[in-house]
Parts: sequence; structure tokens; C-alpha cells
Amino acid sequence: MERKEFFGEFGGTYVPEELKVALEDLADNFYKYIEKDEFKEELMYYHKQYTGRPSPLYYAERLTKKIGGGKIYLKREDLNHTGAHKINNTLGQVLLAKRMGKKRVIAETGAGQHGVATATVCAMFGMDCIVYMGEIDTERQALNVFRMKLLGAEVVPVTSGTRTLKDAVDAALGDYMQNYRETFYLLGSAVGPHPYPIMVREFQSIIGLEAREQILEQEGKLPDYLVACVGGGSNAIGLFHPFYEDKSVKIVGVEPAGKGIETEDHAASITKGKEGIIHGFKCYTLADNKGEPLPVYSIAAGLDYPGVGPEHSFYKKSGRGDYTYATDREALESFIELSKVEGIIPALESSHAVAEGCKIAEKLDKDQIVIINMSGRGDKDVNQVKDFLKM
Ligand SMILES: *Cc1c(COP(=O)(O)O)cnc(C)c1O
Repeated sequence: MERKEFFGEFGGTYVPEELKVALEDLADNFYKYIEKDEFKEELMYYHKQYTGRPSPLYYAERLTKKIGGGKIYLKREDLNHTGAHKINNTLGQVLLAKRMGKKRVIAETGAGQHGVATATVCAMFGMDCIVYMGEIDTERQALNVFRMKLLGAEVVPVTSGTRTLKDAVDAALGDYMQNYRETFYLLGSAVGPHPYPIMVREFQSIIGLEAREQILEQEGKLPDYLVACVGGGSNAIGLFHPFYEDKSVKIVGVEPAGKGIETEDHAASITKGKEGIIHGFKCYTLADNKGEPLPVYSIAAGLDYPGVGPEHSFYKKSGRGDYTYATDREALESFIELSKVEGIIPALESSHAVAEGCKIAEKLDKDQIVIINMSGRGDKDVNQVKDFLKM
């Protein structure tokens, strides 16, 4: 596999020298093992036996009829063990950690989803696991903190800065810089300095590789549209990348518009951000005049990150992908609609993609196809939605 540090002008490794040494070693190992059959076979073994892959590509017939346009397919990452796409990446990285002889795994987490997926694979491989989590997030997501502890992980509340995800990333990077000789930093999205964006994309590409094969088998042709929600961008790039060369396939990423992109309460980094550097890489980012990340918000905790993967930044700038947004309200409506019409409760994150996917399908002919990535299941969100709707 070709070394790829930059996607156009985005990406890179804007970090202190000590960290560069660690990342260089990580990159060397990643490019080495990703080519090896024994690595690929072991990863595939766990994808099948532990996660339950392949995930179905499900024709949402009732939703399609209700919308009354093109055919809507759902890529069911919500059916994976632990309930989302995140396990695809944590499995890949933990196998790499094992190959590199590291016994101590660290991770950052916002809502706790990546922390749980990391704690899960660390339990399965008998690794020590330390998860950095903003103190405010540990309070908001107490149940996920308990899950991580149950899985044997240590959760470290981060008390600096805004005490949220971006501070958790800083704390994890700081730990990694000090302890990289025995520590593996298992990053949760297609963001960060090289090699993380390409590594996470590679491990998430199983989504798109499967979907491409499945749609060709089920429909005998490629889809017209791919739609996925974009936080850091890992579930989206995992679906999109294997279709990159298929120029007839339109790519649509959906950012969280929160209470509206004209307000300050959103996390639409591509739509409203500027080119800048965050956490060691260049991308579209929501930052103040000094380049400091702005506070961000979404009803979907997994989407509130003030940056976005460099590959999405490149798709946007080069025109290969279109990036749009959905508000909290639109996501909530889709959350309820998909539950009622298909018997599938989507994650609030994925509900953003459902909202846009339905808008697109409505305008299509009956023989056209939209694939929406169901990045995760909504069981984790039912309490929040219940409170929100005062039901
Ligand atoms: C974490 C998460 C996301 C957002 O992360 P990406 O890296 O943008 O994919 C989306 N959906 C679910 C269910 C998540 O848990």
C-alpha cells in the first residue's frame, strides 16, 4: 500500500518531534502488516466470528414506498457487536498493537462509544486499557463510563480546557508522547496526524467493500448515491472510499447542524469551518481567530468534533463529495420515522444520514438507488430522546 500522508493539501503530521518518532514507528508497522496475509486473515476471522460480519445491505421497502422515489438501502452497521461501526477500527488497531508488542492501549472518547469499542477489544485480547474522557462527558455519559469499567478499562476524567472531547484528545496525545515505547494510541476516527486518517479509513473500508459487492449482487448495478453522517468521518469514509473511482456514484456527507448552522450550536466543520490545523493535521475546522477550536454542539454526541477527516476535506475541495447538513430536529424526525416504518431504531448520529437520504430519494426515479450508512443503533439514545420529547 502506498504511503499517504496528505490528501491534497489536507492531513500531514503537525506535531512535536518526540511524537513524530512514535508516529513514524506506527506508520512503518501499519504499512508493513496491512499487506500481510496472516494479518488480513486474523482480522477477517474476528470480523466474522466476533463482530458478526458481513453486515446486511437491507432494502428498506416500506420506507422507500413511503418516500415514493428511488430505492433506499441501509448498510446495517448497527447490527455489529457493540452496536456501531466503531468496532471495525478498534479490532484492526488492537491487532496491530499486538503485533507491535504493546500491552498498554490508550484511547480518547467523547460520548463514550469509541471508549466502549476500545475497552471491548482490549478485554478480548487481555490488554491494559486507559480511556481519556472529558470530565463533563463522564457526567453526561455515566452509563458508558460504567460499561468501560465493566469491560476492565480505566477511565481518566480530563479536567483541563472545556473538559470535553478535544481535551481528551490532547490528554491522550500527551500520554502517547511520554509513553509510546510500551503504549499504543488507539484513535477513534479518520482524523489526527498521519498515519491515523489512512489507517482508520483502511479498517473502516470493509463497510464500502461489502456494500459494493452486495448492491452488485442484489441489484446488478452500482448505487446512484451514498449517504453517511460525518463527525470525524470514519463511518462515512469507510463507505465512500471503495466507490471513489466509480464516478457515477454520488457521495454525500451529512454534518450535524445542531440548532441551525446560523447559530453557534452546531458542529458543521466543512460547511462552516475554515482550513486550519487541529490535533496535528490540516482540515476544515471550526476555530476562533487565534486558531483555537470552538465549542461545538449536536444532539448526537458522537458528531460533535470541531474538525473533520483530511480525506473528507479533500473530497469537498476537489468536488468528489458533496457535504450538507441536518439539524437536531430533522435527525429526531428521522429517528422516529425509521423506528415506526422499518422497526429499526437508528443512532441519533445515523439519523442525520437518514434525514438527507430520504430527501435525496424523494427526487429520484424508482429504479435509482440510495445507500444510507446506518452507522449505529439507537438504543443508547432512547433516554435522551424520551426526555427531549417529554414522552
Ligand atoms: C462515533 C459515531 C459516529 C461519528 O463518528 P465518525 O467517525 O464520523 O463515523 C457516527 N455514528 C455512530 C453510531 C457513532 O458511534
